[in-house]
Amino acid sequence: MGIKKWAWALLGVASLGFRWVASNSPEWTEHYYSRGLFLFIRQAFDMTLGNLPFPSVFLFILFIGTLFLFLIRKLSRSPKGKKRWIFAFRSLLNFSGALIFFFLILWGFNYQRTSIIQQLGLEVKPLNLEQLEEEIEESHHQLVSLRQQIKADTSAIEEIVDYRSLESQVRKNLSQNLALVKLEYHGNPRTRMFPPPGFMRKMGILGIYFPYTGESYIDPTLHPLEQPFTIAHEMAHSFGVTDEGEANFVAWVVGTRSSDPLLKYTAYLRLFLYQVRDYYRMDPDGYRVWLEKLDRGVLQDIRSIQDRNAKYPPFSIELSRKTNDLFLKSQGVKAGVLSYQQLPMLVYAWKQKAGN
Ligand SMILES: [Zn+2]
Repeated sequence: MGIKKWAWALLGVASLGFRWVASNSPEWTEHYYSRGLFLFIRQAFDMTLGNLPFPSVFLFILFIGTLFLFLIRKLSRSPKGKKRWIFAFRSLLNFSGALIFFFLILWGFNYQRTSIIQQLGLEVKPLNLEQLEEEIEESHHQLVSLRQQIKADTSAIEEIVDYRSLESQVRKNLSQNLALVKLEYHGNPRTRMFPPPGFMRKMGILGIYFPYTGESYIDPTLHPLEQPFTIAHEMAHSFGVTDEGEANFVAWVVGTRSSDPLLKYTAYLRLFLYQVRDYYRMDPDGYRVWLEKLDRGVLQDIRSIQDRNAKYPPFSIELSRKTNDLFLKSQGVKAGVLSYQQLPMLVYAWKQKAGN
């Protein structure tokens, strides 16, 4: 009887112990969890909560709220003094234990899987200036030719398909190309817009995967040119990719393999922004000269994204600096002579590997 009262707390501790075991055996975790149990969890979420007409995180909030009220009521009815304190303490531990347990079992054990970089055998190294310049040329060339297929003039692209169609399109693209990064496509993961508009941006994020309901969310105010890549990034999390850099990489690989010029364009655009930011840091003078050559249409698109971002500054300046320091703001931060930005490095390593 006694131990039962602490069941969730104990389960939380046990799952942390299990996590330690899993971290020592990534291959085992990969096989039994990421490519085993987690795929069933993926299916189960997508077949149920994924069909709701509203973000399922609301159900989670409702559940936590109800639980909280229930506990408060029980607490107020329990005898005053030591017993009440023990009850409050136990409830807190049980609650934390349950949160940890469900987080790990529903998604979190993916942190212990074999990384995508390792699975693909990529050799990730910082880029030197020459390599970066070549990469920028390549991205720019792709952007210019793709843009011609999307828009006839150089004014910014500010309208694309409606969100629901975009979500399906990105998902379909993932289903066709996820195997390229050695991941299995399973289920029908959802990425919804999460109200109120601007809320997530204020918190300094563009999107988030919520493991407790198996759904991801993006901020409704995201610029249309940022949406396809961000959805693909969040969906990469839905397939058990935990690392931010790897989720970007997956989104880039599938995006650039898409048959849709818009998805391709937005994937190259994201990469380009990372590359150019580093270029500026590594060689400010070279960057200024090069900037003169930047395609007018691409420039308008970047400006349009920046204008949109400027309307929703995050609470934390540090975070805003990370997401919005390109072209207009000069930080004077020198990143040294090498580019350490993860997406450009991963893409470079990927291209270096034969066959990509
Ligand atoms: Zn992410």
